[in-house]
This record gives sequence, structure tokens and C-alpha cells, in this order.
Amino acid sequence: MFDLLIKNGKLISGEIIDVAIKDGKIKKVAKKIDSEAVTLLDLKEEQYISAGWIDDHVHCYEGMDLYYDFPDEVGVKSGVTSVIDAGTTGAENIYDFYRLASNAQTNVYALLNISKWGIVEQDELADLSKVKADLIKKALKDLPEFIVGIKARMSNTVIGDNGIKPLEMAKRIQRDNHNLPLMVHVGSAPPKLDEILSKLTKGDIMTHCFNGKSNGILDQETETIKDFAWDAYKEGIVFDIGHGTASFNFHVAETALNEGMKATSISSDIYYTNRTKGPVYDFATTMEKMRAVGYSWEEIIDKVTSAPANHFHLTNKGYIAEGYDADLTIFNLTSGKKELIDSQGQSREVTEIIKPVQTIIGGMIHDNTL
Ligand code: ZN
Ligand code: ZN
Repeated sequence: MFDLLIKNGKLISGEIIDVAIKDGKIKKVAKKIDSEAVTLLDLKEEQYISAGWIDDHVHCYEGMDLYYDFPDEVGVKSGVTSVIDAGTTGAENIYDFYRLASNAQTNVYALLNISKWGIVEQDELADLSKVKADLIKKALKDLPEFIVGIKARMSNTVIGDNGIKPLEMAKRIQRDNHNLPLMVHVGSAPPKLDEILSKLTKGDIMTHCFNGKSNGILDQETETIKDFAWDAYKEGIVFDIGHGTASFNFHVAETALNEGMKATSISSDIYYTNRTKGPVYDFATTMEKMRAVGYSWEEIIDKVTSAPANHFHLTNKGYIAEGYDADLTIFNLTSGKKELIDSQGQSREVTEIIKPVQTIIGGMIHDNTL
């Protein structure tokens, strides 16, 4: 007897499947499963099912003033089963974040900011005495399930006069701690993007990959993607969207796509202000923007499920397969017009709307109220 049996779910490929769940895990996936279950959910070959959406760049520690939000606001209520907080906290305050996050229905993970108080101020890497390798090591040891990587923000307002140095420190910390995933925020110079990318190695994550700044991947004179960005992409640097208030530009994303370059993962960089006032609003809207750019829905679903699960080694997540966690997103895909605005105020119209209707986390069904 299963706890939950989901019948007639439609995969994004169009294939129809049944999924059986017990004890929070996916026990069976097949074309037809006819077994008893405590709860039956029939999607009637109409509603879509995917592995639970993973937003790998959010800010959801409520104890901050600059970038803060609440895990369930950016998670379960928006079809997102797992969120990765991208460096809001550092080795001093991550314990408080962990305590709060434990109460959420959403699965919450964190990237540890290499600066010990995280983004308590905008310039957390201007004073490098805040980077404490011993405290970082201790936090990683204390919270091994919660902390899935480290974060360094490398743009002019953050680093003061320190140039590339904070990134070199981050790479050293990464090497000294089992090569854990490293996410780097990029923005305005200094440091220059080519210098940042030259320090990154395969699997490192560049977030805000399609920002519209002159220090971005697009050469604004020639209207082509810079050679060094192509080199980094081919080398296996992860290009993560990290939309945010100021970091997603349709034109850059479209130019990249025309040249054959696609984001490796899609994330929102959502927090209270850009959720309530835009331009982010929610994860589904970020996904619609990538559809407007020209990505297929199949690609988009991969980039919000298996891709982030692989990059951050979330070994039980990201797939609908036997033995994986029973984290699933049920959604509708309907036609309809919607105007979408990027971080620079450019608009595009999308003609397909994606709307999460139920979020299943560890086998528990949550109805979406959005
Ligand atoms: Zn950022
Ligand atoms: Zn961010």
C-alpha cells in the first residue's frame, strides 16, 4: 500500500505516467500502476508533472535588511520544492538561518558567503579580515546537509579595493574543503569579467550570466558574445541566470542563444522586494522569460530540476525516478498572453503561461494559492 499514487500525469515530453510514493520517496514510476494508496491524485492526462523545481539562487533569511525573504514564500507557494539561498549568511550567522529554515515546508539549502556575516552590508568583501577560513571550516562541519557550497560576490560595490583577491581566497577555501561548489556573482567592474572567469574551473557557477552590464558577456559594440565568455562556457563553467533586480537582460540572453549559448541553469535571485514589486515576481515568471527568449519547455524544466541537482550534488533530487525524494511539481501550461519585463525594463510577450498548482514535498501535497 502506497501513501500517495499519482495517476495520469503528463511529462513535459507529452508522455503519460503514474508515480507511487511511500515514506517520502518515489517507489515506482510506470505507464500504469494499479495499487492501493492512502491518497489518490488523478491528473487526468491534463496536468503536467515534473521533478520538483529547484531555485538555486534565492535570498530567504529573514534576519537581514538588504536581501531577505521567507523560504515558503519563494518555495512551496510557487511550485518550488527546494531553494538554495545564495550567500545571504556567512559563518557567524548561518546557524540562525539554519534554525529558522528548519521550520519551513520547503527544502532549504545554503551557500555560505565567504564573508563571515554574509550580506549584512553591500560591501561584505571590502574588508578581507571578514573571510575566516577556520570559521568556514567549522560551519561546513557543523551543517554538512544544509551548506551545499560557498558564495563570493565579485563586483565593484562588494569588493572595495580588493580586486580579484577575494576570489582567490574563495578558490583556496574551495580546494581546502573537498572542492565544494562555488558560486560567483558577477556585475560591474572591477574586477573585469575576463579576470574572474580565468580563475574559475569546471563546475564553478557564474550567476547573473545574462546581465546587461558592460562588464558582462556581451560586447556591446560588436553585439557578439565575448571570446573569453565562450571559452569559459566550453570549459564547463556553469552559466546560471540569477535574474534578480538588476541582472537579467533579454537582449543578452537572445544574442547568446543566437550564437548557440544557453544558460546551464535557471534561477530567480528572488527576495522580498523583487518578488513583491518585480521584475522577478516568482520562479514561474523567470521560466516564462526563458521561453520568451526561445528555450523549449523541456530545456527549461531540465534547467530547474536535474541541472541544479547535479551542480550542487543534491543526490536524491531533480529526477522522477525510483529511490529519489518525492518532490514533485504539478503545473498547468496554457495559452495566453503575458508581458514580461527584464531588469532593464525591456519587455517581451509570451504566449504560454506556466502555473504551478500543487507542490509535493517529501510526499506531502501542498495546494498553490498563487
Ligand atoms: Zn548577486
Ligand atoms: Zn543574489
